[in-house]
Amino acid sequence: MKLIDPFGRTISYLRFSVTDHCNYRCHYCRDEDHFNKTVRTEVLSYEEIERIMQIFADLGISKVRLTGGEPLLRTGISKIIKLIGAIDGITDIPLSTNAHLLEKFAGKIHKNGVNRVNISIDSLIAERFAEITRGGELDKVINGIDAAIKVGMRPIKINMVVMRGVNDDEIEAMIDFAIGRKIDIRFIETMPIGSAGINALSQHYSETDILKRIDAHLVNNLIAIKPEQTAGPAKSYLIKNTHSSVGIISAVSNNFCSACNRIRLTAKGQLILCLGQKNSVSLRDALRSGVTDDEVKNLIIDAISHKPKQHDFNTNADNINTAQMVEIGG
Ligand code: SAM
Repeated sequence: MKLIDPFGRTISYLRFSVTDHCNYRCHYCRDEDHFNKTVRTEVLSYEEIERIMQIFADLGISKVRLTGGEPLLRTGISKIIKLIGAIDGITDIPLSTNAHLLEKFAGKIHKNGVNRVNISIDSLIAERFAEITRGGELDKVINGIDAAIKVGMRPIKINMVVMRGVNDDEIEAMIDFAIGRKIDIRFIETMPIGSAGINALSQHYSETDILKRIDAHLVNNLIAIKPEQTAGPAKSYLIKNTHSSVGIISAVSNNFCSACNRIRLTAKGQLILCLGQKNSVSLRDALRSGVTDDEVKNLIIDAISHKPKQHDFNTNADNINTAQMVEIGG
């Protein structure tokens, strides 16, 4: 069975936020006074995760990215990975992490099924890194990246949110860092998601400007990767004579929604149809009301029939998602 939305898009990719707690407080992701009060009983249990993932697999979901909050903070994360990895039909389990705890977890989660990892790192200057993340420790993150390399996760992508006047002077250094470690780098435009993201728009650094800097740094050394090869919304390029690629995720400059194949599930079991819009349905409440698997499937199929055509980053629009990114999972 396949999930196909009204615009003919096949949905095969689920981003699952396993927790909405995070040990970092990046200022474009959550407000300074945003404190998380989610308690254990509100989030999906192991049994509920296993059941819902089996249902998604039956509906044609083959890729489940684990995100958060910070996914490595979720109690039993290795167990969750193992149980998702054991589900027939789910063949790809990447992880998005800030890597603060990755040195400790890399071996175990790789063994349990995480084949590849995206790591957020917005600066290579320790003090600046701590400021952006409101307390993050750069050396721990770098140790986490090296641990992922060592255990053989591939590909490893580092993600940098580029902010004008904050870290835009580090674009070249970040490319060199990736090349030196034979890993990939993606630059992300700030998105107006939640009040933190909306406030960060004043520091927006556009795709065009990022590309100019990449071009000037890697003169004649970029080979464009065709979109269907990248399996994601990034515009990407191989860097000649290296083992690295560079890309830009530009949700604001570009609308790549016509190729959208993804949906999101929050830690509390809310199915979100589009990052930029409110439309959602609680699968947790359905599960807890005693419905059958077929009834849950029908609920998901019905939700997909309401998947919006595209995100709306017009902050005055009625349907804009006002949740903080830390709650949605990026
Ligand atoms: N804690 C994990 C991490 O740091 O990657 C996973 C969750 S985090 C919300 C996922 C991604 O969303 C990160 O790469 C982060 O930089 C990005 N992100 C958060 N808020 C954003 C915003 N307003 N604009 C663009 N990217 C954002």
